Amino acid sequence: MTRLILATRNAHKLTELRAVLSDSGLALELVGADAYPEVPDVRETGVTFAENALLKARTLANATGHPAVADDSGLCVDVLGGAPGIFSARWAGRHGDDEANLWLLLAQLSDIDAPHRTAHFACAAALALPNGTERVVEGRLRGTLRHEPAGEGGFGYDPILQPDGESRTCAELSAEKKNAISHRGQAFRALAPVVAELLG
Ligand code: IMP
Repeated sequence: MTRLILATRNAHKLTELRAVLSDSGLALELVGADAYPEVPDVRETGVTFAENALLKARTLANATGHPAVADDSGLCVDVLGGAPGIFSARWAGRHGDDEANLWLLLAQLSDIDAPHRTAHFACAAALALPNGTERVVEGRLRGTLRHEPAGEGGFGYDPILQPDGESRTCAELSAEKKNAISHRGQAFRALAPVVAELLG
């Protein structure tokens, strides 16, 4: 059975990717980066989601000798020219402070009215093989930013992004519903046939 490493320590992403890949019927042993504690975290020096996803996948594939998948994602706000973008996780200065990131963004957009509050979540998912073969695909979830957070689910900017065609924010959707429409769900589903082609 081929071992495929997912370059994340996030159990939720592992579950999501496992579900998507199991639909493709491939006999893969999917393991998280936690199985390789000796491999250091990658500095995300890329300037696009795709570059950073490729960097993470490539580093893990080279270090372990197994094919690796990685994703990189963020929120792109039109009126901010695509920011926070690749800086989404550290927009307020400290990596991973979701609450501070969300409130800073709301403050920055406080004078902007609904028609101009368009944004999208973006996700790049990359596959890297130890022989140097690489592929990257992307997914997007478009929507509008609320003035106030709503909902308890999800993480990050979920409480302020209302997907197009929805009356609720991402934080008010069930995990299943969010996975069905999300940027990450789309990217992982687009990657599944690529994994099948290269590893099947
Ligand atoms: P990462 O790719 O998991 O490191 O995510 C980067 C950052 O983008 C997160 O810290 C969040 O701030 C934001 N982000 C990415 N995907 C989502 C999402 O599905 N919902 C809310 N925020 C997200």
